[in-house]
Amino acid sequence: MPSRQEANESLKLRQKRLAKERQARFRKRQKIHHERIMEERRKKVAKERLAKERQARLIKRQNIKNNNYPSETQIPSGQEAYEPLDLRQKRLTKERKARSRKSNNNEREISDKLECIPRHDLGRIDQICVHCGAKFWMEEKNHSSNRTFPTFSICCAHGKVLLLPLTEPPSYLLNLYTSSESDAISFRKNIRRYNNVLACTSFGTNIDTFHGQGISNFRIHGQVYHRIGPLLPEEGHQPAFAQLYIYDSVHEIENRHNVMQELDEKILLNLLNMMDECNPYIQNFRHVRDLIQTNVPDEIFMVIYADRTQDLRRYNAPTASEVAAIMVGDGHELHTANRDILLKMRDGNLQRISEIHPSYDPLHYVLLFPRGDDGWHVDVPLIGSVN
Ligand SMILES: [Zn+2]
Repeated sequence: MPSRQEANESLKLRQKRLAKERQARFRKRQKIHHERIMEERRKKVAKERLAKERQARLIKRQNIKNNNYPSETQIPSGQEAYEPLDLRQKRLTKERKARSRKSNNNEREISDKLECIPRHDLGRIDQICVHCGAKFWMEEKNHSSNRTFPTFSICCAHGKVLLLPLTEPPSYLLNLYTSSESDAISFRKNIRRYNNVLACTSFGTNIDTFHGQGISNFRIHGQVYHRIGPLLPEEGHQPAFAQLYIYDSVHEIENRHNVMQELDEKILLNLLNMMDECNPYIQNFRHVRDLIQTNVPDEIFMVIYADRTQDLRRYNAPTASEVAAIMVGDGHELHTANRDILLKMRDGNLQRISEIHPSYDPLHYVLLFPRGDDGWHVDVPLIGSVN
């Protein structure tokens, strides 16, 4: 029974609708027909490919049977398994000989080229700056000086820069440096490891791995940099470098020994006790530890000073309060001088220490600067200079 809508439809509209439906049905039929043709074509192509492959396999099998294998240059890689053993051995010998001829030719070419390059010899490094004692090659002399009385300026600017001698190391360390006892010998053998396990900063650079024989090499390219992390490790992370002086110090020896297991625990403990007594940086880190353990402040931070202009001539090792300060707060309100190092309690970023910061050397080479003497820095005063 026709619906009310259809009944109301005028004849014209009805015809239009029917024509539309007819067209739709026609398009659908065409689409199905097209898909069927495409499917048949796909099947045909696949069938042809399989037939070709079958044919190729057949030809190859016949060639192998007749010992009529194509020449070696035509053997596709990975298909040598089809080659008869005697032919294969012959081919490999031929190839080996060709490779050896090629490599001999290359070597000859390189050595011919090297013979053409004149050898540059700088001679012995036997020149010494009369002011500071730095060693030089003759070729490094100032252009204005002659070879009989050469002068050099890249070391101390003609004696204007006078570095004070380092303060004497504590007697325990001096003994390890100089004694012939077995402890001291073992210490000197592992001195870099002892330093690294006690250092407050990490050492970073691009290291070139050395492959080869001969004297062991430590080869780097690009710049060397020292980095320091926040006062405490991130949650779930192990403490490292300066953090080892602050965090979990009850197990400090164990924690350090875990880093370098071949070190002697007794020497390590003695070195730590010595550092606690004489190193101003480590005394500051220990102070942070004590403050955290007694829960005095919620948040503290440490500033390691860069400015040495107030202290032009110092013959004593610096004190803890001269190198750094510990303050309450998160440090955000502090406007430090450019090169001051600001260490927050927890702030995941490692910061790079400027190589012209006076603490750059003592924070890392703790066994060379046990008393925290300043390393080279831009404020090293010039003799006879007003500033
Ligand atoms: Zn000099």
